[in-house]
Amino acid sequence: MGRIIDFHAHLGKVIYGYPALTVDKLLKFMDRRGIEKSVILPLVAPEEEDYYYTTEQAVEDCAKHADRLIPFANIDPRRGSNDGAYDFYPVLKEYADMGCRGLGEILANVPANDPRMKALYRACGMLNFPVVFDFRMAIFRTGVPEPAGLPNLEECLREFPGTVFVGHGPAWWAEISADVKQSADNAYPQGKIVPTGRIDYLLEKYPNMYADLSAHSGYNALTRDKDYSKKFMRKHYRKLLFGTDWFVRNEKTLMIDLIRSMKLPEEIEESVFSKNARTLLGI
Ligand SMILES: [Zn+2]
Repeated sequence: MGRIIDFHAHLGKVIYGYPALTVDKLLKFMDRRGIEKSVILPLVAPEEEDYYYTTEQAVEDCAKHADRLIPFANIDPRRGSNDGAYDFYPVLKEYADMGCRGLGEILANVPANDPRMKALYRACGMLNFPVVFDFRMAIFRTGVPEPAGLPNLEECLREFPGTVFVGHGPAWWAEISADVKQSADNAYPQGKIVPTGRIDYLLEKYPNMYADLSAHSGYNALTRDKDYSKKFMRKHYRKLLFGTDWFVRNEKTLMIDLIRSMKLPEEIEESVFSKNARTLLGI
């Protein structure tokens, strides 16, 4: 295809004891896998990883390969104030003027419906910035904690219809099935999917809800029950974004092969691999 857009990629030295993921290394990986462009997500939450990779670094790295790399902005929601009164718009507007086209991924251990998070969504809506989340089960102390059923997220989808929310991570993808049991050893649930999962409901009901397929959470959700996942792809393909979350720790990217192996109509592949991302990014 050669026109694939990776909606979820990273750069920099972020994990202790591992070498930095350099621009050169990422570009070589993209060439190998037929990925034309990658969205670079800064990491700015103190909970994760071991080092920061800032918006300024992303802008600088992407500027050298503007035809291949697209920077997102990232601001920790706890910046500025602790009551939601901080206005994120001026700084995010500055980042937009520097070429950023979205926000995320949010890894702060702050509930999705916290006033500080809502202040971020408000500003992102004004800038047409899609917001990428890493949702984790509430028992974990990193990522955006979401109870079973994703109620906090739904509150925000309703309250901010002009902001695009992109779901990702274990607590998001576990909800492909209706029988979610949140526990420390169940971040990647196995077995047949029980309809109707909450993400099926949210993707269908809210035009501003999207999902990125990256990482083991996305791969696990699409492989645990292959008959169901084909139906899921056919139903929601206009809302799904291919992504890798490729890191120094996970060299394999099985999602491209998995999607192709489903033998879905060309229109669906094109949407998931490229078209949906281009629409959200305005490219
Ligand atoms: Zn990531």
